Amino acid sequence: MAYDENNIFAKILRGEIPCTKLYEDEYALAFPDIRPQAPTHVLVIPKGKYISIADFGAKASPAEMTGFFRAVSLVAKQLGVEDTGYRLICNAGPDSLQEVPHFHAHILGGRALGHLLVPG
Ligand code: AMP
Repeated sequence: MAYDENNIFAKILRGEIPCTKLYEDEYALAFPDIRPQAPTHVLVIPKGKYISIADFGAKASPAEMTGFFRAVSLVAKQLGVEDTGYRLICNAGPDSLQEVPHFHAHILGGRALGHLLVPG
């Protein structure tokens, strides 16, 4: 599967669709999820064109990987959920219901999140 240049996060990275930038560096951008599932729900995306974590893991450079995951931990700290805790979700492929085919991590927190998976 080829990377879709018109996916919504590609458009955000190109500045064609607005977002509230919470963090940005050369490797990553973070912004609030438009449909929050928890009091804190922020998306962190790499600047490179990767479809999913599988694609990222296979093709990203060590600097891109380090930069991305460093950004995730910095954003969690910035959001104030480092001490209370948070969950990181990376959906990949159909069974996960990944909606946007640009690799991203959801940071969820701000309340007790319950068990990992809800039925259904
Ligand atoms: P996923 O199912 O892991 O692909 O999650 C994609 C997420 O992107 C969903 O939680 C959406 O609410 C979120 N989303 C879609 N469009 C936007 C947007 N324009 N700005 C912020 N979040 C978005």
